[in-house]
Amino acid sequence: MLNYNLRKKFIVLFAGLLVVVAISNYYLFLGYSNQKYTYISNQNNQLESQINALLLSREQFSNYVFKSLIDNDYIKELMSEAYSSDEATRDRLRKELYGYLQKDYVFSTEYDFRQLHFHFPDTTSFLRMHEPEKYGDNLGEVRESIRIVNEEKRYVKGFEEGKIYNGYRFIYPLSYNGQHVGSVEVSISFDALASVLSELYDRDYFFAVKKDVVTNTLFKEELENYTESFFSEDYLFDLGLLESESKVLALKTVEMIMDESGDISYELEQGEKFGVLSEYGGQDYILNFLPIENISGKVVAYFISLSGDTDLFHIKTEYIQRTVHINVIILLLFFVFVMHIRNISQLETISYVDNLTKIYNRHKFLELAESELSRSIRYGSDLSFILFDLDHFKKVNDTYGHNEGDLVLRKVAKIVSANLRKTDIFARWGGEEFIVLLPETSLENAYTTAEKIRQAVECQQFGKVKKLTISLGVSTVYNCKNLLASIDLADKALYESKQNGRNRTTVASPGKCLECSECSKDEGSES
Ligand code: GH3
Ligand code: MG
Ligand code: MG
Repeated sequence: MLNYNLRKKFIVLFAGLLVVVAISNYYLFLGYSNQKYTYISNQNNQLESQINALLLSREQFSNYVFKSLIDNDYIKELMSEAYSSDEATRDRLRKELYGYLQKDYVFSTEYDFRQLHFHFPDTTSFLRMHEPEKYGDNLGEVRESIRIVNEEKRYVKGFEEGKIYNGYRFIYPLSYNGQHVGSVEVSISFDALASVLSELYDRDYFFAVKKDVVTNTLFKEELENYTESFFSEDYLFDLGLLESESKVLALKTVEMIMDESGDISYELEQGEKFGVLSEYGGQDYILNFLPIENISGKVVAYFISLSGDTDLFHIKTEYIQRTVHINVIILLLFFVFVMHIRNISQLETISYVDNLTKIYNRHKFLELAESELSRSIRYGSDLSFILFDLDHFKKVNDTYGHNEGDLVLRKVAKIVSANLRKTDIFARWGGEEFIVLLPETSLENAYTTAEKIRQAVECQQFGKVKKLTISLGVSTVYNCKNLLASIDLADKALYESKQNGRNRTTVASPGKCLECSECSKDEGSES
């Protein structure tokens, strides 16, 4: 019972500890997640800058190709003539133009340019330097960029899927003698951008285009240049970026990472750049997805970069170290706090517990008894006291030693505690004398309890001492304001027990309360 408060304090402390640990770990995890998020964002931005830088340099080269090779009167006059000619003349002029540009076209392909494509003002294909056998088809419906250039007669650039290749396109209007004579397109593939980046960075790059864009735009025979992507049913991988053995292996890694990291359909739907961090085969990887918009600003493709990652390992290690440190500090503080509380509790306990018997001491008893006395006066209830003393205890000490005497005192306290109610207050009154306060208990019931105690002690074996008896005095008061006088009544009754031969209970005679002669209610009797 005495440890109850301490246990309650520890439960509250432990609950507090759990809350502190939960909150601090939550914030640590939040910090870790933010750090990871920032890291992924930085990687995404880096990839975007790299692509933009490459595109800008390619645009400059494309401008150079246009100005130096194409934007001349010979080509523009040829285009003008071809547009207004019959098929046969067109064929001749196409071959002428092809022959005229072939050397330079081959040269430009060494600088990553894949397509050089001439179109008439009505968006019909005139000459594809990369596929000279394919011409005459109308591009207006599938190639928004070519339609805009020829309708609005202005320069257009951007990504677009074509009938043969996808690519980042630079499309220039051609004007001859103030007349719009068609357009020419120079384009670069993401395959080319990927190989430049691969040379610069130890990464693998992939390009995936929306399935419906591919199937609605490409010539049927060109569809084999794409394969299913495993991260989304809506996207197809451009096989142009998967030609080497190592790329196929890298793609396998991407597949495994995607399996591990779950669904990304939400991110794909948002159409913003995002990244995926994952572990596969004991190695951390980062996948960055850069959305690629078409001419009308709609996301139709993703440029994807894969790299083995060491920074994530550091972020993780730092997070684990921080978590361990903080938790150890919290636990240490908790331990110190618990020890402190325990010490305080021990001090408190020492102040009201008898050191030998671990029951209340006289000081605490008087404090508790005062409040019980007030309560009994307020509610008009009986209050009983049992005072008892060990018989011939001096002899026990003399015969078996003081230590054996101590053991006896402890055992008596235990026996008596076991025979009392929770509401009774039991204390060591001094030496081998003990006192019990029984709230709301009549003299009759107090006497019964006293006898129960007496018999319980009498029946016990006390080690070497074997048998031991106690003598008891019982008093019951009603509306008595003097605590010591009430106890004194019991003390006198105890004295009578001793006088009358010990091992007995005597109840106090009425009228002996010094303060008020009426407060002792019942008749005295002797066992
Ligand atoms: P009576 O039946 O009249 O009470 O005889 P008694 O011998 O019990 O009474 P007395 O007052 O002569 O002796 C009480 C003894 O109790 C003397 C004292 O040494 C012993 N005593 C008091 N406190 C302790 C204690 O804490 N431990 C031990 N072992 N003995 C104690
Ligand atoms: Mg005694
Ligand atoms: Mg005594």
